[in-house]
Amino acid sequence: MAIERTFSIIKPDATARNITGAVNALIEQAGLRIVAQKRIQMTRGQAETFYAVHSARPFFGELVDFMVSGPVVVQVLEGEGAIAKYRDVMGATDPSKAAEGTIRKVHAKSIGENTVHGSDAAETAAIEIAQFFSGNEIVG
Ligand code: GDP
Repeated sequence: MAIERTFSIIKPDATARNITGAVNALIEQAGLRIVAQKRIQMTRGQAETFYAVHSARPFFGELVDFMVSGPVVVQVLEGEGAIAKYRDVMGATDPSKAAEGTIRKVHAKSIGENTVHGSDAAETAAIEIAQFFSGNEIVG
């Protein structure tokens, strides 16, 4: 399988609880490498652009409010089949449906405050990485 890069966000529910290191430990234990990482306060505009695909959904306002409610850690993860692998490591969107040992099963509070984001495909990974990182900030 090819080496891929995927985009990850450790969301405000995790920074609020000071568990970014615990999340990173699960990422690294899965064999993914954190090749870029920074802690930022997302602007409302950034959050609306990032989640534009969900703009018609009833939870969109709540989602944007949540994403700007505190700092996030944006990351680029690298590894074999990193996109699908990270989706597995994250677990299902709704933590009550997430598999044992996944980040969301272990740490998420609810379907909204679910600790992490991970890209769902190669095309979205490239777009999402470019939204937050320039090439020289990613060191593999
Ligand atoms: P993901 O790819 O697993 O993150 O899930 P989606 O792309 O379907 O949804 C994006 C994000 O929107 C999720 O990670 C949640 O933070 C949020 N979200 C999804 N469904 C709901 C919902 O029913 N209520 C709320 N408040 N947020 C939701």
